[in-house]
Amino acid sequence: MKTIDLVVPCYNEEDVLRIFYQETDKVVRQISGYSFRYLLVDDGSRDKTLSVIKELAASHPEVKYLSFSRNFGKEAAMYAGLCHADADYVVVMDADLQHPPAMIPDMIAGVEEGFDCVAARRSSRKGESRIRSFFSRQFYKLSNRMSDVKMAYGAVDFRMMSRRMVQAILKLSEVQRFSKGIFMWVGFETKWLPYENVERAGGATKWSFWGLFKYAIDGITSFSVAPLRMVSALGLIISLIAFVYIVITLIQTLIFGIAVPGYVTTLSAVLFLGGIIEFSVGILGEYISRIYMETKNRPIYILKQTNLEEERTDEGKN
Ligand code: UDP
Ligand code: MG
Repeated sequence: MKTIDLVVPCYNEEDVLRIFYQETDKVVRQISGYSFRYLLVDDGSRDKTLSVIKELAASHPEVKYLSFSRNFGKEAAMYAGLCHADADYVVVMDADLQHPPAMIPDMIAGVEEGFDCVAARRSSRKGESRIRSFFSRQFYKLSNRMSDVKMAYGAVDFRMMSRRMVQAILKLSEVQRFSKGIFMWVGFETKWLPYENVERAGGATKWSFWGLFKYAIDGITSFSVAPLRMVSALGLIISLIAFVYIVITLIQTLIFGIAVPGYVTTLSAVLFLGGIIEFSVGILGEYISRIYMETKNRPIYILKQTNLEEERTDEGKN
């Protein structure tokens, strides 16, 4: 019998976890030939998530959990789940039922066809705010134009992956993780399954606008140095323009003598260049801050509790 681990990051999901288990269990129970195990990762929830998880684990032996010492973010929670998974296939899914468990049989069919990855892709963004959809679309456009790692529009983290793909993902041990890009970066063939966006079964989204903005910057800087090149190109272009301007002014001065007015030109040039310099320094800073965070080599997460037998000591690093 083949095994499947369901990795579920949970942060403040006390309202939905029981329903999540019920709904998923209904689907999973009808699948024959595979045995399932849940790896619920409590990402330092501040509500009763952990006690709900423990309650589930007490009555269902296939429910395992990992609990963090504080909130480390969804990326860290997914990474921890993948680190502790040892099944033939691993499914990553959200706890809020926005990733329909009914798709699991189709995912299994996909891996049986020989795909290393079967991933869900939203065919609509119904129920999501217009502004969020708009920015999200722009992000994909921008990021795909700048980076060699192309991300599929509408792709979500919900996917089933083979053991070898999971192992490849774990080799990318960067602290600032951007899974959407990592999934694409490791390669392997992906089968896409479209689905309609569903609203949360309860509770609230953890994403603020600012949070999504930072996520987008992370996505671009993790997989592309195009912004740095853009800054160099910009510098070069401005220098060329300045050079031409200087030559023209010199000639004018030689022919017509010194022209006194020039306040507006000087001021605009100073302000414009100042802006460009600030912008460039900002972009450099983004990359430097990433180098800084990576060189610290801190663990990606810290475990507080788990009911898995083998407790690993190499927390968050492999
Ligand atoms: N999540 C997490 N840690 C966090 C934020 C979210 O583990 O810091 C989990 C959350 O419990 C859920 C999933 O990540 O299972 C997706 O979160 P959410 O539903 O808030 O995001 P959205 O669906 O709105 O993109
Ligand atoms: Mg959600």
